[in-house]
Amino acid sequence: MTREQWGALQDGLNKTLGQNNYQTWIKPLEFKGMDGNVAVFHAPTNFFGTYVSQNFSDVLLSHIVTFDPGVRRIQIKASNGSQPAAPKPEPAAPPPQAAPQAGDGNGNGRDLLPSAPLDPRFTFDSFVVGKPNELAHAAARRVSEGGPVSFNPLFLYGGVGLGKTHLMHAIAWELSERNPHLVVLYLSAEQFMYRFVQALREKRMMDFKELFRSVDVLMVDDVQFIAGKDSTQEEFFHTFNALVDQNKQIIISADRAPDEIKDLENRIRSRLQSGLVVDLHPTDYELRLGILQSKVEFYRGQYPDLHIDEGVLEFLAHRISTNVRVLEGALTRLFAFASLVGKPITMELVQDSLADVLRASDRKISIEEIQRKVAEHYNIRLSDMIGPKRLRAFARPRQVAMYLCKQLTSRSLPEIGRRFGGRDHTTVMHGVKRIEELRQQDGQIDEDVEMLRRALEA
Ligand code: ADP
Ligand code: MG
Repeated sequence: MTREQWGALQDGLNKTLGQNNYQTWIKPLEFKGMDGNVAVFHAPTNFFGTYVSQNFSDVLLSHIVTFDPGVRRIQIKASNGSQPAAPKPEPAAPPPQAAPQAGDGNGNGRDLLPSAPLDPRFTFDSFVVGKPNELAHAAARRVSEGGPVSFNPLFLYGGVGLGKTHLMHAIAWELSERNPHLVVLYLSAEQFMYRFVQALREKRMMDFKELFRSVDVLMVDDVQFIAGKDSTQEEFFHTFNALVDQNKQIIISADRAPDEIKDLENRIRSRLQSGLVVDLHPTDYELRLGILQSKVEFYRGQYPDLHIDEGVLEFLAHRISTNVRVLEGALTRLFAFASLVGKPITMELVQDSLADVLRASDRKISIEEIQRKVAEHYNIRLSDMIGPKRLRAFARPRQVAMYLCKQLTSRSLPEIGRRFGGRDHTTVMHGVKRIEELRQQDGQIDEDVEMLRRALEA
């Protein structure tokens, strides 16, 4: 890899890791050059280097190989000393073969087909299952058993950061663990295109075709990338058909359903739809909390003394609902800061170190939205919720709505009061208190409020 290539990778890294992670961890890295097939970087401090190599080396590598498939490893050194950063911790159960190589018998063209590196953290063990992803997980599990091919392809789709890549790597790990001889090829659609173009340039299309047709399992991540890229689509289509004809399993992911990918040829679209299409739904609060808890357990291994205040995880799961990558990034940053300054993780630290993330993910739920939802739930009219009537049948829902406004918006009590037919802020305060009490005493109310909160946040 050259400096220019490293420069050209920045945009992609920024996109994959998110602005915050990118600015905090990647931007400060200095690319020093190649040492054989190892890309060497300098980090500002030793801690920094350790941190980046533990958390981001796979992502870095997977981006780097799209430009230079010859790079095998990356090394991050602290620029103040020569001490190399600690290696990534071993995964719980490392499968024997991370990147199976397909051969064509005489070693010809092997370099056209390295599988993209698999992230050792992306296993089924570390995948937290919840309502939003249980179908996708079940399908992935089934495919990973390696039995007779029952649906082809498996098409996984869902928004950014919902676990598509994680599931695909988990399948690859599991398959190669069950059968080390199986040739499992995992790569992104972007890498597929890169290899294809490379083969064209080097006039090695025969090698390319033969190699891609010789795998047992083909996984192509983010297939939406080839939309609009005609010759790549064409080649992909042929590869796809050849493998399906041989009854080889294909697993595809995309950020949306096949029929929503524009500029995709119809024959490809219908091929993609011909197997099992499952989607990963946006996360819900429980899933997010579960993921955070499992990450904390993982970090505990690295920083056993770190204390984390009660309520912090709940707060994060509640506030950061965009995507899991952002959620993880936030937790990672918290741990990094806490361990850097040797302080426990408190709400104060959260506010200090994550101000930007919290602001960015501040989805605005409006007072009106809350009022409408609550009125609907209790089957009363919106005008009765806001109006002056004091009947219990209206007053209780009104208090619930006030409570939710306080919880879910950043509006002040007087502002909330104004929006509830010009009531005083003390009335709002009383209502909020009342619901807090009732949630302790009355299971039904507690359940209602929780359900409404979830519906509003979804
Ligand atoms: P996608 O490919 O859908 O954009 P990824 O698979 O890269 O998303 O997931 C983003 C991050 O979130 C990864 O670090 C992944 O491990 C994590 N993640 C997503 N879903 C889960 C889950 N259900 N359990 C544990 N980690 C998850
Ligand atoms: Mg992905």
